[in-house]
Amino acid sequence: MQGLMMDRALTIHSILDYAERNHGQREIVSVTADNPCHRYTYSDAFARTKQLANALSSLGARMGDRIGTLAWNDHRHFEIYYASSCNGMVCHTINPRLFEQQLIYIINHAEDKVLFTDPAFIPLLEQLATKLDELPILVVLSDKANMPKSGSLKLICYETLLEGESPQIDWPDFGEDTAAALCYTSGTTGNPKGVLFSHRSTLLHAYAVALPDVFNLSTRDSVLPVVPMFHACAWGIPYAAPLVGAKLVFPGPKMADGATLHNLMESEQVTLALGVPTVWLALLDYLRINDLKLTTLNRTVVGGAACPSSIMDEFRETFGVTTHHAWGMTELSPLGTLNSPNSEWSELNTEQRAQQRLKQGRGICGINLKIVDENNNELPWDGVAFGALKVRGPWVCSDYFKLESESSAHHADGWFDTGDVASIDEQGFLKIVDRSKDLIKSGGEWISSVELENIAMTHPGVQEAAVIGIADEKWTERPLLVVVPKNGADVDTSDLLMHFDGKIAKWSIPEKALLVAELPHTATGKISKMQLRQQVKSG
Ligand code: ADP
Repeated sequence: MQGLMMDRALTIHSILDYAERNHGQREIVSVTADNPCHRYTYSDAFARTKQLANALSSLGARMGDRIGTLAWNDHRHFEIYYASSCNGMVCHTINPRLFEQQLIYIINHAEDKVLFTDPAFIPLLEQLATKLDELPILVVLSDKANMPKSGSLKLICYETLLEGESPQIDWPDFGEDTAAALCYTSGTTGNPKGVLFSHRSTLLHAYAVALPDVFNLSTRDSVLPVVPMFHACAWGIPYAAPLVGAKLVFPGPKMADGATLHNLMESEQVTLALGVPTVWLALLDYLRINDLKLTTLNRTVVGGAACPSSIMDEFRETFGVTTHHAWGMTELSPLGTLNSPNSEWSELNTEQRAQQRLKQGRGICGINLKIVDENNNELPWDGVAFGALKVRGPWVCSDYFKLESESSAHHADGWFDTGDVASIDEQGFLKIVDRSKDLIKSGGEWISSVELENIAMTHPGVQEAAVIGIADEKWTERPLLVVVPKNGADVDTSDLLMHFDGKIAKWSIPEKALLVAELPHTATGKISKMQLRQQVKSG
């Protein structure tokens, strides 16, 4: 028997309509290249969104066309998200930090019809232009007064484009499975792969991340996404914030600047900020050196890479801020799990609670998790057994966009192989042991590089740490610790290695450590172990 409920498509328009009607006066504040403090409301934003959607049609863009962005987190990028998707087009966010070859591949592969770019990327586009199969129509995210000049490219000014366009629109009618956004994973092996989000998956993900035990979002929040809008749609914040009417605060090109982040947090009364660990290391450094406080921030979400306990401890002890550890990947829109305490935590002692907090958290309702052994047999949720982590759910990608070969991660049984190795405890808390390719096999035993890095990060003189496996005649592989010391800290390698004593099984303690000025990072701000391995190999 069928239910008797209205068949209304789950599309992103519903977020726009809701926020416009119910939270029209809620603010969006942005730092942009042409304005250090741009301020307007959801009403203003969505009126301009409709003007932009009309402008896209005037430019000749049609349903299904990809609309590229090379842009920081700001209000114009927000407008492009909605104008393209609600118009039946696909908002394709591009990470400007990728290598030139990857950018060329991605733009050619996506066949972007229009490309919106921050003024800062014009020189980059001038370099790429001749190598692209077809040059998209280029629109610069700027006002007229600050338009950059280009000798070789024809550039349209964003604000001029909007002028004269009507803020009225009849959105096209389409189904909830229509593509809404496209984001390529950085592709540590082979070419980047496109994850194509639908309206339905985006809306369901937005509802899910707003839940109390996930981002706990409400209209009383002021949210600062430091995670880029080109990195898995800033973890869904541009959709989830208007879905509840939360204020949005965008740092623009100043994402890595401690002073800007602190100023925004204080002046805009930010309550929630989200980002990868590297960002928080930089901010905490800035706050420590300048002896500053955070008066309104009450929680951070840290994900994208394992969050060291030092970040959680300093946020909590010095600033009274709770850190929630989250796990996900672009293929999951991106959120899979988030760590928030359950009632059983009241029975845990301080050390047990600290251990529990370091885990990546419980699966969000809608996402199924399982861990399997090498024969695909499911392993128990006992907090001990670990194996390949597989997931499925309505916001998990079912295949990659226009992939030439078959995806090895998508299996006939309907589960997606994440490439991560994990354990899950009796209460459902997931612990990422490692990326499967970063696990170190020494003398037949597995060593988790993540666990060693976590311990290294508790050393007071360590700013950043990475552990990789290096070939060893006797043991096949041994862990090598590579450390960036804190500014001015007097650290020596034997002291670093001794720091592991008593904290982990003796055979898994590295016997070698290197001190370096900096570690290589990926385009999404994570430590690039692939590059580090190459650097170590070449001495
Ligand atoms: P890429 O970095 O390749 O662009 P993603 O951002 O989608 O792609 O990266 C997803 C991967 O990042 C996960 O599969 C996992 O290995 C790692 N990751 C994400 N969050 C965490 C976390 N909290 N702890 C450990 N690893 C994480």
